[in-house]
Amino acid sequence: MTTVAVVEDDAEILAAVTRGLTERGHAVTGAGTGLGGLAGIVEQHPDVVVLDLGLPDIDGLELLRMLRAVSAVPVIVATARDDEREIIRTLDAGADDYVVKPYSADQLDARIRAVLRRVRSEDAEEPVQIGGLTLDARRRVAAIDGSPMDLSRKEFDLLWHLAGRKGEVVTKRELLAAVWRQPYGGPEKTIDVHLSWLRTKLGESARSPRYLRTVRGVGVMLVDPEAP
Ligand code: CA
Repeated sequence: MTTVAVVEDDAEILAAVTRGLTERGHAVTGAGTGLGGLAGIVEQHPDVVVLDLGLPDIDGLELLRMLRAVSAVPVIVATARDDEREIIRTLDAGADDYVVKPYSADQLDARIRAVLRRVRSEDAEEPVQIGGLTLDARRRVAAIDGSPMDLSRKEFDLLWHLAGRKGEVVTKRELLAAVWRQPYGGPEKTIDVHLSWLRTKLGESARSPRYLRTVRGVGVMLVDPEAP
């Protein structure tokens, strides 16, 4: 059984979500405020969190950042607006997926199962070594030439996805779908920004790339710079 913590201030929505998820075999705990929800999550360690962004006591994004500082629990954000930029910001702040209100229990259940599948498959992955770069998805840590890299979640996810396709050009569209959960495309600039941060952390630049090779107009590829 999956334990789901739902943070939602609208009592009607909370009751409906709780009922819908319980019927689908989940154990649900609910909280009507952000800080109450945060305390419960830290104490109870649910398998997944469903977080409403519009909360009375604290901004949902702020809460997400606070949660991310103490927990790697998968978070699905519920947003009232189907606003691409807001969704990207939310995913950048550490959400794993999102649903747009009003959403059905079936959709939320499917998202929960997909997020958990992803997390569990990462848990089973062995660390990957590409040149001097080591990626450990289980612990979500990366190191370059033996020094730990300070990566955001999205930076790690991006590197991890590219590592899985080592030596292949990956399109920005694929990265938006796989890493930012934007299957219909979105602002590709967000990828450029993350790639540029990653380059800095890898000790390289767009002008003298080592691990990250950009193929103009196509995408980006992760390579072993020491390989012949
Ligand atoms: Ca709300």
